[in-house]
Amino acid sequence: MDWKVSLSKIERKKRFFLEGKLKQNGIELDIGFCRFLEPVQVRMVVAKTKEGFTVGGYVLTAIEHPCARCLEPTRVEIKGVIEALYLPESMRRNVKEEKLESLKNIIYYHETEFDLTERIIEAIVVSVPEKVLCKPDCRGLCPYCGVNLNEEPDHKCDKIPVVDSRFEILAKLKNNLENKEV
Ligand SMILES: [Zn+2]
Ligand SMILES: [Zn+2]
Repeated sequence: MDWKVSLSKIERKKRFFLEGKLKQNGIELDIGFCRFLEPVQVRMVVAKTKEGFTVGGYVLTAIEHPCARCLEPTRVEIKGVIEALYLPESMRRNVKEEKLESLKNIIYYHETEFDLTERIIEAIVVSVPEKVLCKPDCRGLCPYCGVNLNEEPDHKCDKIPVVDSRFEILAKLKNNLENKEV
């Protein structure tokens, strides 16, 4: 569905719900594109206030995010909270209370139509954990050869460089270059 609302509708209806799914198959995060594993369900309430309006609600989905240690695609449940206070641009200087600023996600506007998709995306982005792990005790990758240590818990690495041997280091460099070419 379309997540656009107009100021005139808000003025007219005072308070209304928007419910539906987000038409997008994934989200761009700092680590790259993460696809949605479930439909993105959204429920929002838009309510007029004295000066502007508020948008509240929630977003439910799951995304596929690489594990921070082993990089395996990992399912992350998303329960995002949407909370924003929209105020007209002319109010910007009047809001001096820092408390209000910190409690609410304040958006100043000058337009008369709003795409609330931005609020949905924002709610998803902030609810992604800082460190995604495929399991709490993920063993990660071998730092020398990149083998997944969850799959090979008894891995004994034969690529550990011997610090004092120039030959070994050169051999490793050569190895890396060869691997890159594959
Ligand atoms: Zn992992
Ligand atoms: Zn290894």
